[in-house]
Amino acid sequence: MKLAKRVSALTPSSTLAITAKAKELKAAGHDVIGLGAGEPDFNTPQHILEAAVTAMNDGQTKYTPAGGLAPLKEAVIEKFKRDQGLTYSPSEIIVCTGAKHALYTLFQVLLDEGDEVIIPTPYWVSYPEQVKLAEGTPVFVEGSENNEFKITPEQLEAAITAKTKAVIINSPSNPTGMIYTREELQALGEVCLKHDIFIVSDEIYEKLVYGQNEHVSIAQLSPALKEKTIIINGVSKSHSMTGWRIGYAAGDATVIKAMTNLASHSTSNPTSIAQYATIAAYNGTQEPVEMMRQAFEERLNVIHEKLINIPGFSCLKPQGAFYLFPNAIEAAKLTGFDTVDAWVEAILEEEKVALVPGSGFGSPENVRLSYATSLDLLEKAVERIHSFMTRHM
Ligand code: PLP
Repeated sequence: MKLAKRVSALTPSSTLAITAKAKELKAAGHDVIGLGAGEPDFNTPQHILEAAVTAMNDGQTKYTPAGGLAPLKEAVIEKFKRDQGLTYSPSEIIVCTGAKHALYTLFQVLLDEGDEVIIPTPYWVSYPEQVKLAEGTPVFVEGSENNEFKITPEQLEAAITAKTKAVIINSPSNPTGMIYTREELQALGEVCLKHDIFIVSDEIYEKLVYGQNEHVSIAQLSPALKEKTIIINGVSKSHSMTGWRIGYAAGDATVIKAMTNLASHSTSNPTSIAQYATIAAYNGTQEPVEMMRQAFEERLNVIHEKLINIPGFSCLKPQGAFYLFPNAIEAAKLTGFDTVDAWVEAILEEEKVALVPGSGFGSPENVRLSYATSLDLLEKAVERIHSFMTRHM
C-alpha cells in the first residue's frame, strides 16, 4: 500500500531493534539485563496516585480546556516562579500529552517547508523526526566529546542561514547527561538574539542534576531571551510519571495559542485525571523528587567508577539525567568489531545485556546505558561486559 510521503520518510526508532531483540531473548527464558530504559524505575509518589483517585471519584472524567485545566496552568506557573524565577501568564502555557507531544505540536506550528532547525548532536532520537514531520529540515551541529558533547557559539553561528528558524537546547541532555553552564547559555543566547531565531529549550531532566552542577534555563538569562525561548518540560522524569502523559510548553502567547488551536483538533485535551494528578505533583511535597534524584546520583557514582575500568571505555561523568554515554569504539575494536553497533549486538547475544548504540543519537562511537535500574543489576551488567571483553581480547 502507498502511504503518505511524510511517514515513509520516517526513520524507525534505532532503539526499537535492540529492545525487540532483548524482549525476544527474555521471552525465551534468558536472564536479560535491559539498560535501555528511558524512564525512572520508581513508582509514581503515593500522594499523586491519591489525587488521581480523588479526581475520578469526584467525576473529573470529562473533557477539559484544550490547553489544560486552569488550576494546572496555575500550578505550572507557580513551579516556574519557585524554581526559576520566571513569570508566565496562563496564555503563555499549554499542557500537552507529554513533553514529546508538546515538542511535536510546537514544530507543527513553528515550521514551514524547508525551515531549518539546528539540532546539536548527540541528540534525542525524536527531534529530527519531529522536525521532518513538520516539513522542516534538521541541521546537525556536532557537540564534540572534547567539549562535553556541547556546541559552541561559533559552531552555532556558522550553522545559521536565512532559513534557520530555531535551535534546540536539551540540558541536561539525553543521551549525554551534560549540562550547559549559565555562561555557555549566555553566549549561545547572544547568537540566537543576533540572528533572531527561536530557542526550543527541552528541560525535561531539570530535576535530575548531580554534584556541584546546576540547571539554568536560557529563558532566565534576560527578558529578550525569555521572549525567544519556548521551554518544554513535564512530570515524566521528575515525578516518575511517564505513563500519565503530561508535559507542557511555556513561551510566546501567539505560539502557544496556535499550539492550543492545533491541540483542540488533535488531542482535544490531555487526560483529565492525569492533569489532576499533576496539580498534586506540583502543589504537593517535592520530597519524593529529591529522594529519586539522590538514588540516581548514588547509582551514577558507583557505576561510573566501574564503567571507566572496562578496557577500551572512556566515559565523561554525566552531570544530570540518568544516562551514561561512554565512547566504546576502542572496546569494540579490541574485541574484533568494526562498529559499536555490531559490538552492542554481540554483548546482547552473548552476555544478555541490552545497551543502546549511539548511532541512533547521531554518535556512532558511543553507547547509551540508562541507570534507571537497581544498583544490583547495574553492577551485574558491568561484570558481564567485563567478562565479554576478557573473553574476546
Ligand atoms: N525530551 C527528552 C530529551 C526525552 O528524553 C524525553 C523522553 O524520553 C522527552 C522529551 C519526552 O518526555 P515525555 O514522556 O514527557 O513525553
